[in-house]
Amino acid sequence: MQREEFFKEIESIVNVIDENEVFLIIGHVDPDGDCIGSMSAVAFYLNSLGKDVRCFVPGGVKKSLLRLPGAEFFVDDEGIEGFEPSVVFSLDAPTIARTADIVKRNDHRIVINIDHHPSNEFYGDINLVDASASATAVIIFRILSTVSSGVITPEMANCLYLGILLDTGGFRFQNTNAEALHTAGELIELGADAAGLARDYLYVKKLSTLKVLARALESLEVYAEGRIALMTITKEMVSESGSSMEDTEGFVDYASSVDEVLLSALFREVNDSETRVSLRSRNGYDVAVFAGKYGGGGHRTAAGLTIYACIEEAKALILDGFLEMLERGVTAD
Ligand code: AMP
Ligand code: MN
Ligand code: MN
Repeated sequence: MQREEFFKEIESIVNVIDENEVFLIIGHVDPDGDCIGSMSAVAFYLNSLGKDVRCFVPGGVKKSLLRLPGAEFFVDDEGIEGFEPSVVFSLDAPTIARTADIVKRNDHRIVINIDHHPSNEFYGDINLVDASASATAVIIFRILSTVSSGVITPEMANCLYLGILLDTGGFRFQNTNAEALHTAGELIELGADAAGLARDYLYVKKLSTLKVLARALESLEVYAEGRIALMTITKEMVSESGSSMEDTEGFVDYASSVDEVLLSALFREVNDSETRVSLRSRNGYDVAVFAGKYGGGGHRTAAGLTIYACIEEAKALILDGFLEMLERGVTAD
């Protein structure tokens, strides 16, 4: 998106905010820190303007993210029952399907789609989509700092900082660019607690999470002369460790950290006929396109999908696809 176009969209968003009173902010299913942090920051801003605002994520939000400031804006299914927003902000959600179709309900309202996924389908009335942004939180920061100075409180700074911190894997992934670091720096000046957030969301783990990690590491298998790594987490492994499936998010990073590995996948059992798959790549392989073939999506180097089959079948499918990708090599696009 060109700079000029970007500012034009921000202007349209400001007008919509001025002209409306009731706002719903939604995110994608299985929300992460970028999604929730961005939603909370926008909620704080709208609230400061005296607007009626609620946040909702289909399927709920995991407990650790509800410790963030702004949790008071989040409602469950009951909380949106009968709620009639005139504007819906959809944040960090590339497709309508990723919002569990929430944006489609009641189609006379204005939908503002703000996201950084290259696969975004521009389903909004206003679309502020920039795949060069390392997190949706970076785009929210751009908007809020364009609107006027002094609107970002320490609470909002914390929310946005967490989004950037987690989407860049602690400032380590490919998407860690100058803007991510500049923005993080400014957010620290505005009151974000960098060390505290890194401690709470990246470093400190429950003992039960480390126990299930040990099991997950045991499950690691490599193929294709060590260029493919697969990791598996079953419901049994989780329950025997006294953990929960949501605590295993991010374990795929261990598979992708294996020396020489170019393509990696984590398979998490939902039930006998449903497996949640996380994909990661290095050296230019595009796992988003691959995930897209099976109804998933994401970014070039980090994508996800759900396969409606048991873990073993899901593994066979992904391994076949990975082997084919290696054979084809990286295609320029
Ligand atoms: P995960 O493996 O869950 O950490 O997801 C990695 C990336 O892929 C994130 O940017 C997600 O937003 C995206 N993603 C995960 N699952 C899906 C899906 N089913 N459809 C579209 N994008 C997804
Ligand atoms: Mn996300
Ligand atoms: Mn994101």
